[in-house]
Amino acid sequence: MVRAEQVCKSFGHVDVLKGIDLEVRNGEVMCVIGPSGSGKSTFLRCINHLEKINAGRLWVDGKLIGYREHGGKLHELKEREVAAQRKDIGMVFQRFNLFPHMTALENVMEAPQRVKRESGAMVRARAAELLERVGLGGKMGNYPAQLSGGQQQRVAIARALAMQPKLMLFDEPTSALDPELVGEVLDVMKGLARDGMTMVVVTHEMGFAREVGDSLVFMDDGLVVEKGAPREVLSNPQHERTKLFLSKVL
Ligand code: ATP
Ligand code: MG
Repeated sequence: MVRAEQVCKSFGHVDVLKGIDLEVRNGEVMCVIGPSGSGKSTFLRCINHLEKINAGRLWVDGKLIGYREHGGKLHELKEREVAAQRKDIGMVFQRFNLFPHMTALENVMEAPQRVKRESGAMVRARAAELLERVGLGGKMGNYPAQLSGGQQQRVAIARALAMQPKLMLFDEPTSALDPELVGEVLDVMKGLARDGMTMVVVTHEMGFAREVGDSLVFMDDGLVVEKGAPREVLSNPQHERTKLFLSKVL
C-alpha cells in the first residue's frame, strides 16, 4: 500500500529525511517512533504530498505520489491530480483541527460534500454511521467546544474516514490528550486496524505499538535505524540508538 524508496527531504540546507526505505502492505499497521526532530512528521507529510520530496520515490496503492513518470523522467502532477491522490489518504494530527463553527456531524460531512458532490442524504447517513462507529452517535449535534479532547479526536478520525481512504496516517494522535482520554482514541484506532485499514501511526504509545502494530520503525536523524516486529524491537533492540531511546521512554 505504501512504498518509500530512498526518500529524501530537506528544508533549505537542512537534510531532514536522508533516504527512507519502507514498505507497508495492505491491511498492515506500521508504528513509527523516534526522538523529536528525527523526521517522523515530515515523513508522514511526504506520504500525502503535503511536503514535496527532493529525491527518491513514494507510492501509495501503486501510484507514484506527486509525480508522473514518463520516459524515465519525473513530471510534477497538477494540484488537481495531487488532490485526487490525497482522497485515498486520511490524516489525523496531534491537534484535532475540527471546524469550530460546525457540529460533529457537519465536520464529518464537510469533505465528502465539498469534494465528491454526493447527495446530501447519502453523505449525512454515512457521516452518522461513522460517528456511531467511533462511539459518538449521541453527540452528532455537538460543536467541538462541547466535546472533550478525546471525543474531538474521534470526530477527527470519523472525518478522515468519510472520504473512504485506503490508507490512514496518524501523527501522534493522542499526545495532546489528557491521559484518561487516550484509551478511547486508541480503542477506535484498534477497531480500524481490526477492520483491515492500512495505517501508519507515529506514536509514543508503546503498548499500542506492541499490541496493534505489525511493524515498528525507529527513526533517528532522518533515517530508519531499526525496523521489525514490535515485540522484537521493544524487547530486543539491535542498535545503540534504539536502546538509548527506549531506555528513556519505556
Ligand atoms: P516531533 O517528535 O517533535 O514531532 P518529528 O520527528 O516529527 O519531531 P519533524 O517535525 O519531521 O520531526 O521535523 C524534523 C526536522 O525538520 C526538525 O529539525 C524541524 O525543525 C525540521 N522542519 C520540519 N518542518 C520544517 C519546515 N517547514 N521548515 C524548516 N524546517 C522544518
Ligand atoms: Mg512530529
